[in-house]
Amino acid sequence: MKKVCIIGSGISGLVAAFLLKNKDFEVALFEKSERAGGNIQTVKIDDYTIEYAANSLLKSPRLVDLIGALHLESEVLAANAANKKRYVLQNGKLKSLPMALAKMATGDFFSWRAKLRLLKEPFVKSKSPENESVAEFFERRLGREIVERAADPFIAGIYAGNPENLSVKAAFPRLYELERDYGSLLVGSLRSKTEKADKNFPRTFSFRSGVQTLTNKLAESLGEMIKTNTEVLKIKKTSDGKWLVKTNFGENIFDAFIISTPAEAAAKLIGGIDVDLSEQLRKIYYPPVAMVFFGVKKENIGRNLDGFGFLVPSSERRNILGTIWNSAVFANRAPADYELLTTFVGGSRNAELFGKSDDELFAIVYKELKSILDLRAKPDFMHLKRWRKAIPQYNLGYERIENGIKVFENKNKGIFFCSNFYRGISVGDSVKNAYRTADEIEKIFSHEQTRKSTKE
Ligand SMILES: Cc1cc2nc3c(=O)[nH]c(=O)nc-3n(C[C@H](O)[C@H](O)[C@H](O)COP(=O)(O)OP(=O)(O)OC[C@H]3O[C@@H](n4cnc5c(N)ncnc54)[C@H](O)[C@@H]3O)c2cc1C
Repeated sequence: MKKVCIIGSGISGLVAAFLLKNKDFEVALFEKSERAGGNIQTVKIDDYTIEYAANSLLKSPRLVDLIGALHLESEVLAANAANKKRYVLQNGKLKSLPMALAKMATGDFFSWRAKLRLLKEPFVKSKSPENESVAEFFERRLGREIVERAADPFIAGIYAGNPENLSVKAAFPRLYELERDYGSLLVGSLRSKTEKADKNFPRTFSFRSGVQTLTNKLAESLGEMIKTNTEVLKIKKTSDGKWLVKTNFGENIFDAFIISTPAEAAAKLIGGIDVDLSEQLRKIYYPPVAMVFFGVKKENIGRNLDGFGFLVPSSERRNILGTIWNSAVFANRAPADYELLTTFVGGSRNAELFGKSDDELFAIVYKELKSILDLRAKPDFMHLKRWRKAIPQYNLGYERIENGIKVFENKNKGIFFCSNFYRGISVGDSVKNAYRTADEIEKIFSHEQTRKSTKE
């Protein structure tokens, strides 16, 4: 039986371990902290169900497969229909952002000038040059107003990032490919085929007890294979082509291992094998984000929470990136008569705000929500979670890292990267990458097995 070590028990490492166990590999998953799950964490405080990282998941084929394999279907909680409405702050007021192209070109969200520019998109002949940022890409194809009013706030919502710095090819490969393959985003989105997942599965969802249900179930199914409080300190190739993994508890030999840690830890692990890639990984920027949770009496909110929440463009010059209206999106997230609101502060845009004290952050968020949502009284419940390094930014120059990882994996047989700094940051991407990694490992070792038996 081949032995595979997985380093890091976030969603990426847990899914890879789960799949390899089912493919009859001997699996050991080392996790530095005291709990499995990585940054996915749901906590229950005073009858509020609070998500410290991922709040909602988007349907994808692999995620649906995984939920089936874990028998978690009955725990899935669909987002309320209202979640489809997404608001963006415009001149201090919340405006619903049209999600369909037809509505973008007809409604009053954009100026008539921007709407005309939008209709011209299929006729923009240029193609993305090397190293183009997300802002440059949208401006070239759709015009400046779309960048400022729609792309900028959405990028703050997904990456807590800055569209001027993110690489379009690395951060939004699908958009890059639509232009490359169809010459237009509008034409491409109508003609291209996306991977289809089960039609009856909700598009946006969580679980009754929160997103951590997924990582808990994975951890439960792996049982003793997970070693928590176990930090991998060093990896080294042995003379017979295997891998020695040194932890704070000793040394073990494996046929292969998967690095599922954040980039900084990955950089440390491969430092003795590839100095250049290690330097590149160390440089990946993770902006700080503070998440501020408010429980507010419904009667103290002046507006109807009829959507997913709102996002704030940089041009509005506010101190928050946006707010999710959790209890409006999912049932049972707050006590009766109360709403749970999660507000994001910091990110690449306002990284310096992360240095404020808890009380200062509560005051900043209260002031902003008072003006935007017409809060009429202070929240009855306040809580805060800080991420010193939140989400890896696929910034300009990222392709060098991506290529470096590919070359490294080819050169060092038996090492694989499967983490959110490589091939996508969402939970759906992480799950897809774990399937891909487990399949690759299976393929490599079954080839080796076949070669061996033909020789014998
Ligand atoms: C604030 C926030 C909000 C988000 N919202 C969403 C959302 O709504 N929807 C969505 O799809 N995604 C969201 N994401 C993204 C998603 O949650 C993450 O990208 C994903 O969970 C990352 O999983 P991972 O396994 O790659 O890494 P991680 O979860 O970071 O796990 C890495 C693990 O490696 C361990 N480790 C590190 N070094 C070592 C070592 N030397 N030895 C052993 N173990 C080690 C760490 O302790 C950790 O447990 C959000 C992320 C954040 C931070």
